[in-house]
Amino acid sequence: MTRLSGITPSGHVQLGNYLGAIRRWAADGGPDDLYFVSDLHAMTTAHNPARLRALAAEQLAVLVAAGVPAESIFVQSDLARELGALTWVLECTCSYGEAARMIQFKEKAKGRAGVRLSLLTYPVLMAADILLQGATDVPVGEDQRQHVELARALARRFNTTYGEVFAMPRAVLPVAGARVRDLADPRRKMSKSAGDSAGVVFVLDEPDQVRRKVRRAVTDTATEVAYDPQRPGSANLLEILAACTGEAPEEVAARFGSYAELKDAVAEAVVETLRPVREGARELLADPAELARVRKAGAARAAERGSHRVDAALRLVGAGG
Ligand code: ATP
Ligand code: MG
Repeated sequence: MTRLSGITPSGHVQLGNYLGAIRRWAADGGPDDLYFVSDLHAMTTAHNPARLRALAAEQLAVLVAAGVPAESIFVQSDLARELGALTWVLECTCSYGEAARMIQFKEKAKGRAGVRLSLLTYPVLMAADILLQGATDVPVGEDQRQHVELARALARRFNTTYGEVFAMPRAVLPVAGARVRDLADPRRKMSKSAGDSAGVVFVLDEPDQVRRKVRRAVTDTATEVAYDPQRPGSANLLEILAACTGEAPEEVAARFGSYAELKDAVAEAVVETLRPVREGARELLADPAELARVRKAGAARAAERGSHRVDAALRLVGAGG
């Protein structure tokens, strides 16, 4: 089994990414699993080149500092040649109708001017990400399930039309992790690309910034601290604390007499949980030679794993030497 998961450098890594995904990648990753920084996917809407480069470096450093095995990590654009060639082959295996049917495309393109062609074709690049590595299990949320189905359909079609090259991937449910909500607007999930970041705790935030954001978190008017999912603000704080301490939110709630106390405890737990990741990532970012070394080693390993599939696919479609 090969699991493949990615994180897109669309913004600074936030607490939800860490508690809900990255921490689990570090804990549960098998030797064949792969984790990648999907920088090419961050280019389907208007983007800033310098910012994209910096965010990709930040994510790579955070993954390494969080304890995701360095040999399992790569940056997508380091495989741009393999992925570009495979994307083309897969685009020649995909019908226009199939791509245009993608719900994500319809939603993201609706009412926008100057939509990039890549917004339509990125599911095919995603299929290339998956099929290049022979990934069998792709943990994705509901919104990405249709894209994994497309990858599966393209793999099957290619294999039956030209010859067996690709493993059949399937979408699997991500291991249920904490679902962190925005501290300033607890009705929506915390997100790295949120326009307003007042309620978003970033992994690289300094402890004082974390404390300030947590103290300003929206709670509710009830005075007693209790765990009630109908009260999203306080439930969110309790869930965050529980995710940091490994307890249940109900258990945590029983310890606090006021929201002020709870917020102090949440702030300290988050600061301490993120501390090794923040410090490790900052150290790596301050050492570009070491970061480049890690990046190069991961890229070489991922390219080696996948390049034979591009070569085989090109040969079978009648191209390549
Ligand atoms: P974007 O705003 O660009 O969608 P994001 O913060 O939602 O950014 P993704 O790149 O979509 O991050 O997701 C990376 C991983 O982090 C996924 O596994 C996703 O499930 C997880 N994740 C994202 N936000 C949260 C959250 N608030 N709580 C728990 N897990 C999260
Ligand atoms: Mg997201």
